[in-house]
Amino acid sequence: MLINKLNLLNIILIGIGVIAFSITLYIAVISLFEKEKLAARRLLELAFLLPLPYLVVGLLNFPYQTHFARALFLLTGIVFILLLLPIGKKYIVGNDIPRLKVDERDIVLSRNLLKIGTKRFIEYYKHHPERKIADDEFRSRPGLLSSDGSKYNPFTFASADASFNIVEFLKKAVDEKVTNKKIELAPAEISNYIKNWSLKLGAHNVGITKLKEYHLYSHIGRGESYGKPITQKHKYAIVFIVEMDKFMLGCAPAGPIIMESAQQYLSAGIIATQIAAFIRNIGYPARAHIDGNYHILCPLVAMDAGLGEIGRIGLLITPDLGPRVRISVVTTDLTLITDKRNFDNTVIDFCTNCKKCANICPAKAIPFNEREEIDGVKRWQINSEACFTYWCTTGTDCGQCIRVCPYSHPDSFFHNLVRYYVRNSSIFRKIAAPIDDFLYGRKPDSKEQPEWMKIKKQRKTNK
Ligand code: SF4
Ligand code: SF4
Repeated sequence: MLINKLNLLNIILIGIGVIAFSITLYIAVISLFEKEKLAARRLLELAFLLPLPYLVVGLLNFPYQTHFARALFLLTGIVFILLLLPIGKKYIVGNDIPRLKVDERDIVLSRNLLKIGTKRFIEYYKHHPERKIADDEFRSRPGLLSSDGSKYNPFTFASADASFNIVEFLKKAVDEKVTNKKIELAPAEISNYIKNWSLKLGAHNVGITKLKEYHLYSHIGRGESYGKPITQKHKYAIVFIVEMDKFMLGCAPAGPIIMESAQQYLSAGIIATQIAAFIRNIGYPARAHIDGNYHILCPLVAMDAGLGEIGRIGLLITPDLGPRVRISVVTTDLTLITDKRNFDNTVIDFCTNCKKCANICPAKAIPFNEREEIDGVKRWQINSEACFTYWCTTGTDCGQCIRVCPYSHPDSFFHNLVRYYVRNSSIFRKIAAPIDDFLYGRKPDSKEQPEWMKIKKQRKTNK
C-alpha cells in the first residue's frame, strides 16, 4: 500500500509539515505587504519545499520508512533545540567609556561650514593640515541638497529643506532662562510623566541617564558660539528616539531619504524643545539638543539611557528599529529616575559577522575588519570624510547602510521574534545574517519612489 498507517510519529511529521507550510506562507504574505518582492518569492518557494520531506515520509509507505521517520523527527528536534531555544546568550560588559572628549569643530558637518579664506578656515587648517586634502574633496562636490547633486529632485529636496528650515526656528527655543518658581516633585512621578508625554508627542522610545563628562563635546563647532568650550553641567539627560519610515528609507540614496531624515530631525527636535520648555515652566533649567545644535553626542547618551548599542556603522542600533531612528536629547537639573544600560553586546557579535552595511557602502567608508582600540575604546570607526563626500555628490544623506541593516526591518511580531532569537541564541545569530542575505539580497536594490512623489512640472500654456 502506498499510503502509510497513521501512527503517532507519522501524524507528528505531517503536523510539522503543515505548520512549516503555514508559517512560511504567513511570512511570505507579510513580505508582500512590506513590498519585499524577493523575500516573498523565496518564502513562497520555501513554503512548498520545506514541508515536502515531512509529508513524503509521514504519508508514503516505502522501505525503511520507520527509520527515515525517526531520523527526520530527531534531526528536526536537534535543529529546533540548537536554533530556537534561547541558548548561547552572552552579555559581556566591556569598557567602552571614551577617554577623550570629541571637539565638535572636528566633525565633518562643522568642517563643511568653514568658508574658504576666512580667519576661521585658515586657523582650523593651520592646526589640522592633515585634514585639508580630504576636506577639499567634499568641498569640490555640489553639496547637500544642491540642485547639482546626482540625486537631485526639486520636490524631495525642497521638502527636506522645508523641514530643516523649521528646525532652524526651533534652535531659538532650545535654551531659555527659567523664570518660574521651582515646584517640588517626586522623581519617579515626574520621570513617568515626561516619558508618557514624550510617547504621546510621537517618540518611539524614551530613556533617562545621568549626564556624564564623556557625553559632552569639548567645544562648540557650529553657529555663533563656534569655538566656545562646553561647560554645561546639567545632571540628567532625557533621550528621545523617533522612527524613520521604512519605505522612505528603502529609496536610499534617492531624495526620499533626506526628506525622511529632515522630517524626523524635526519631529525629534519638536519633542525635545517642547519637553525642555515644560521643564523650565515647572522651575528647572533644561536645554534641548536638536539637529545642528548639540552639546552632546547623541548615540553615547542614548546607549547609557538603555536605548541600544553602537554597531559597525557607528550609529545607535535600537532593539526594535535598529539604526532606523533619529535622536534628540534634553539635559536638565530636574531630578529624575534613570534607566539601566542594556549591555546588549549581541549587537557587536552580530555586526562582527554581518558586514552588510560595509558591503553596500558606495564610499567604502565602513570597515570590514574587527573592532579596533580608539581612544581607549574598542569600536568600529567609519571614514566620515569618505561618507560625507558621497553625501555631497548625491545631495542626499545616502542612508544605504541603514536601509540594508538586518536590524532595520519593521517593528512587527515576526521581525521582533527574529530579533529575540538574535539576542538570545548565539547559533541563530550566526545564521541570521546569511538568511537575511538569502531573503532580501546581499546588496538589495533601492525601492522606487512612491507614486505620489512622481510629479511632473507642467509646461506653461499661453491663454
Ligand atoms: S548591517 Fe550588519 S554589520 Fe552593519 S550595522 Fe547592521 S547588523 Fe551591523
Ligand atoms: S551613509 Fe552611505 S556613504 Fe555613508 S557610511 Fe552609510 S552607506 Fe556609506
